Amino acid sequence: MNCFEHEDRSSVTRCEECGVGICEECEKKTFFTFNKKPICKRCNHDRARENKYKYNQRFNAEVVSLIINSIGFITGIIVFIAIRSSNYHIILAVLGMLLCWGAGFILSIVIEKNIKKMSNDDDPVLSGLKESDGAFGKIILFIIAGIFSPYMIFNIIKTIIRINNDINENNKILSKLNAV
Ligand SMILES: [Zn+2]
Ligand SMILES: [Zn+2]
Repeated sequence: MNCFEHEDRSSVTRCEECGVGICEECEKKTFFTFNKKPICKRCNHDRARENKYKYNQRFNAEVVSLIINSIGFITGIIVFIAIRSSNYHIILAVLGMLLCWGAGFILSIVIEKNIKKMSNDDDPVLSGLKESDGAFGKIILFIIAGIFSPYMIFNIIKTIIRINNDINENNKILSKLNAV
C-alpha cells in the first residue's frame, strides 16, 4: 500500500482514524494522534479544524462568564460603599457585597451551562439553587457563593489565558498543514 498523500511512496503504517496508508515522512509530521498512533494529513487537518471550533466556543463561554462575574464584583463594591456611607454596620455592608458577588457567580454558571447546552444535575451550586425554595435559603447560598467569587474570577482569567494559548498553538498547526 502506498501513502495517501504521496502516491509514489510506500506506506509504513496506517492512519489510526481512517485507515489510509501513511509514509515515513507523514508519520513523523503527524501533529495529533489517535490511540497514541499517527493519523494521516487529512485527519490532522480535520482535527485542527474541530479544535478551532471547540476552543472558540470555550473561549466565548469563558469571556461571557468573566463579564457577568465582573459586573457582580463591581456592583458588590458599589453596594458596600453605599451601605457604609449610610452609616450602617460593616457586617451589613459585607453581606450586601457578598450577595452581589454571589449573584454574579451563580448567574455566570447558569448562563455558561446554557451556552454549553450541558445539563449537569450533579452540580452542587445549581441543584442547591433549585432546592432552596425560601428566599432566606437563596440569600445564604448567594452569600456563600460570593465568598468564592474572587477565586472564581481568578480561575476564569487563568482559563481564558490557557484557551488562548491552545487557540494559538492550533492555529500554528493549521497554517503548517495548509502550507505544504
Ligand atoms: Zn486519516
Ligand atoms: Zn506521505
